[in-house]
Amino acid sequence: MNDTFHDQTALVLFSGGQDSATCLAWALERFARVEMLGFSYGQRHLIELDSRAKLLDGLRALNADWAGKLGDSHTLDIPTLNVISDTALTRDVAIEMGAGGLPNTFVPGRNLVFLTFAAALAYRRGITHIIGGMCETDYSGYPDCRDDTIRALQQALNLGMARDFHLHTPLMWRDKAATWALANELGGQGLVDLIREHSHTCYLGERGALHDWGYGCGLCPACDLRARGWRGFAATAV
Ligand code: ZN
Repeated sequence: MNDTFHDQTALVLFSGGQDSATCLAWALERFARVEMLGFSYGQRHLIELDSRAKLLDGLRALNADWAGKLGDSHTLDIPTLNVISDTALTRDVAIEMGAGGLPNTFVPGRNLVFLTFAAALAYRRGITHIIGGMCETDYSGYPDCRDDTIRALQQALNLGMARDFHLHTPLMWRDKAATWALANELGGQGLVDLIREHSHTCYLGERGALHDWGYGCGLCPACDLRARGWRGFAATAV
């Protein structure tokens, strides 16, 4: 395949969720070395960040080649995001659809902030490949997940930092069912099981009950999307 970079390092935005865990495996298949970046900003699903350690342990156990490629795991604190965003993701209010068809969990421009910090870290570490799980297939209401946005940001970062960054978004045109299928393609049932059990998506941080699609409240928009994707994948995986 033409998108392999076997002598280069990648930085993966890694929150501990399903999408970023799949992106991490995607990067481990393509790059010589992979570093991870997570953000802490007082979000309600802080538990998602705790999922990272378990996922990393699982990836190491699953594939010796991947274990040898996994590099530093970074965390950056951005408490300012919590201060400036008045949404259900960061405040204890009900999750509901707001004006404009966007759920009130929407943090305006959050991915622009994440990718800009990622580029600054990558600059410091001599990395040019940055990988994120942005997707405009599901949740197309998030304008900072759009392919056009990511392409424009890549250009802005390259102009503003005088570098040649490549922003990779392997999930851009996949729905959640196709994201599960990609995990299966990359790491078989072992990777699917690892992501199912240890990645976290629920907006409420619910980890009580294990459903066939993983842990979560089963009712919030993130759980609903994940569950529907799993059913779509399971229906075709046989
Ligand atoms: Zn939930």
